[in-house]
Amino acid sequence: MTNASIRADSSDLPDARGYFGEFGGRFVPETIMPALDELEAAYVEALADPDFHAQLRYLQRTYTGRPTPVSHARRLSEELGGAQIYLKREDLAHTGAHKINNALGQGLLAQRMGKRRIIAETGAGQHGVGTATAMALLGLDCHVYMGTVDIQRQQPNVFRMKLLGAQVIPVESGSRTLKDAINEAMRDWVTNVQTTFYLLGSALGPHPYPMMVRDFQSVIGTEAREQIQEMTGQLPDVCVACVGGGSNAIGLFHAFRHDADTELIGVEAGGRGIASQQHAARFADPTISRPGILHGTRSYVMQDADGQIMETHSVSAGLDYPSVGPEHAHLRQLERAFYTMATDDEALEAFQLLSKLEGIIPALESAHAVAEAIKRAPTMPRDSVLLVNLSGRGDKDLDTVIGILEGG
Ligand SMILES: *Cc1c(COP(=O)(O)O)cnc(C)c1O
Repeated sequence: MTNASIRADSSDLPDARGYFGEFGGRFVPETIMPALDELEAAYVEALADPDFHAQLRYLQRTYTGRPTPVSHARRLSEELGGAQIYLKREDLAHTGAHKINNALGQGLLAQRMGKRRIIAETGAGQHGVGTATAMALLGLDCHVYMGTVDIQRQQPNVFRMKLLGAQVIPVESGSRTLKDAINEAMRDWVTNVQTTFYLLGSALGPHPYPMMVRDFQSVIGTEAREQIQEMTGQLPDVCVACVGGGSNAIGLFHAFRHDADTELIGVEAGGRGIASQQHAARFADPTISRPGILHGTRSYVMQDADGQIMETHSVSAGLDYPSVGPEHAHLRQLERAFYTMATDDEALEAFQLLSKLEGIIPALESAHAVAEAIKRAPTMPRDSVLLVNLSGRGDKDLDTVIGILEGG
């Protein structure tokens, strides 16, 4: 296993102003600009410090349980009769999802910067749990903003955060989901910028966050690229990951960016179908999604004709967000990555099939990626390799799924 816990390739985007092509940048109030400059400088300095890398690697190995394995989904592959499906097991990372990778990275950075008050926002609750966990470990003071709709549908994660010593702050504004929680967290940051570190949970927001979160998540792809070659003697023909804000997907894709023969596919939440307009498929529906600015970055944004942000819908809280990380918008424009969607129903089917055939209950978010593998594997030769990022485990979603499958 290579030692690269974070990237080494300085030629990577974004550019000096934080742009991935025409996406990204820094669209924030003047009061936040100095904080972003300070953060970027501290991050660049940390990247150049071997001690920072060593600290992160140590925690990844001894706390998170990295490297997470790659599993051959043999029975699922047989059932579908096409490509061999492999799963990168981020569900086996401590706390049950990939978000801990980013929380530990940013937590160590906050510590270096001497900031002891950490704020975060959360949708599915997974980033809140990842953050609360990392802050408990590092001994930092943690405040998590969360929409009351999400609090309702993610009760176990709310309780976990409280156990871990975090303060959960309910957000009642707007649709009372992730985007409103982000607004409140930004407001807090403006007010308390001297003492406070804003620990952003996905590859979103103003520069340097999309770059930094990608770098902390790129351990997924760095490991998987080596593991899959060891297991199969080849690179994957196709990599698939679900895309909420885009952090697990970019974390997987990044290591394969120069492998021209590996196709990269991101899967958005198709909700109740594109025609229903109740979805979070930012790339799939040009009638209600186009480039715009949300939460400090320029990317695709779901908005009405007046530019009002649309309400989104997904069965999985982690994919239920009206914008998408700017690097994905760029990769799509370059046609280096392709984006598709899976509906709630397709994700629920994939959730059940993977559980039954592989003994792995996936997060509903990850089930969207599995749904794409189910569609695509049968169209591929039997000796081809399809790698799915299993971003998290499904325990947190059992109430939701029971409600749908048994409650009707
Ligand atoms: C939060 C979450 C996602 C979506 O976030 P990304 O930043 O797009 O990765 C996907 N899967 C799981 C398990 C999550 O908790």
